[in-house]
Amino acid sequence: MTRPPSTNQLRNWDRRYLWHPFTQMQEWEQEHPLIIERGKGSYLIDTEGRKYLDGTSSIWVNIHGHRHPVLDRAIKKQLDKIAHSTFLGLSNPPAIELARELIRIAPKGLTRVFYSDNGSTAVEIALKMAVQYWQQRHPKVGPKNTFLHLKLAYHGDTLGAVSVGNIALFHSKFKPLLFPTVEAEPPHCYRCPLNLTHPSCRMACIEPIEQIFKIRHRELAGFIIEPLMQAAAGMIPQPSGYLTRLRELCTQYKILFITDEVATGFGRTGTMFACEHEKITPDLMAISKGLTGGYMPLAATLTTDEIYKGFLGRYDEFKTFFHGHSFTGNPLGCAVALANLHVFRRENTLTRLSSKIKLMTRWLKPIADTSHVGDVRQRGFMVGIELVRDKATKEPYPLSAKAGHRVAAMARSKGLILRPIGNVLVLMPPLSTTVEELKKMVEILKKSIETLSID
Ligand SMILES: *Cc1c(COP(=O)(O)O)cnc(C)c1O
Repeated sequence: MTRPPSTNQLRNWDRRYLWHPFTQMQEWEQEHPLIIERGKGSYLIDTEGRKYLDGTSSIWVNIHGHRHPVLDRAIKKQLDKIAHSTFLGLSNPPAIELARELIRIAPKGLTRVFYSDNGSTAVEIALKMAVQYWQQRHPKVGPKNTFLHLKLAYHGDTLGAVSVGNIALFHSKFKPLLFPTVEAEPPHCYRCPLNLTHPSCRMACIEPIEQIFKIRHRELAGFIIEPLMQAAAGMIPQPSGYLTRLRELCTQYKILFITDEVATGFGRTGTMFACEHEKITPDLMAISKGLTGGYMPLAATLTTDEIYKGFLGRYDEFKTFFHGHSFTGNPLGCAVALANLHVFRRENTLTRLSSKIKLMTRWLKPIADTSHVGDVRQRGFMVGIELVRDKATKEPYPLSAKAGHRVAAMARSKGLILRPIGNVLVLMPPLSTTVEELKKMVEILKKSIETLSID
């Protein structure tokens, strides 16, 4: 038996062979990467046995904690049968059962499940379905070939998803490759572009969107939104009633309402899906991150009978949805996703979550009073804490000051893993986080913010 490589050896190889996502590798090469070898519950454990609280749910995916016995067992059990078989021309039991379960829990009216492997592809599929639907079902309207989306939107990193995204730092370099879209101002109550205050504004920010609908509805195939919270934008929440109004407008102007629940789905906001807060049903819904409890890459695009029917016809009408992936309907992913939903029921995850959400709100209050903190934004177990240079004027720190990264580095030294978005600290614990662990996370976060000093 050869001995496993030492931590130092692994670090050297990482710096020599790897290229990490969203990472300035020139800096990374000078650092000592933390190498996670194991996990247990809310904790990550590195190659040297040090434990860290997983404050990001391993980038927003983990739900019931690491190494949950039911999820572990589901994968092992499926592995004893088969790891993968194709979904092109064949089917498999876990994918079938999962689709049935997803339709059972999804907003009423969603009736069909199309699988893929990650959030970006789930979004691509929604966009392609929308465009093809209009061509085939309503060939006389349109052509409806473009989409409306909010500024600061993030729907993934593949080019279609980037086209409907708007985060300059991530997206501007690829502009020449993107298809044209229509953009609207998001509701951003802390930095309201209209300089108004909620609720006295009566959501005046919807008015310009209605204007766009009025003028351009003929060319708009759909309106895509991260419901309730624009996550990667830095956790920017939408006021209550916003989604309901947009759903009404989309119906009125015959524009498909597409919700990207990749970040908000699977209990993150306190309900199974964010749409449930306003009891609305989208025409298309993308899900991924929490779908497998954070275990395996799997995604799905859910849609209605009406859209599905737009693709039916004789073979030689070629109305088929010509899209698929090598790992569509992967049995291991589907098996663990089924186990994920099973644990939601068995452990009453959502019921138990609601009291923890309230505790979190209470514990976050003192953080809002800290001198470096401009705004604390929470929807369930999704939290963004915006650091500012000047609380009164809301003047931000320049990105080059790396305020968020400094606080995260301090938190790491105290045993909490965070991944900030610019000046916004993000806290996204696994839903299974215990009250004690949650308290510890918020305490470390607060202490780390207090140590921040930038001239
Ligand atoms: C993460 C995310 C995506 C992209 O998912 P990937 O699995 O990283 O491709 C899309 N939309 C939203 C809202 C996300 O948070």
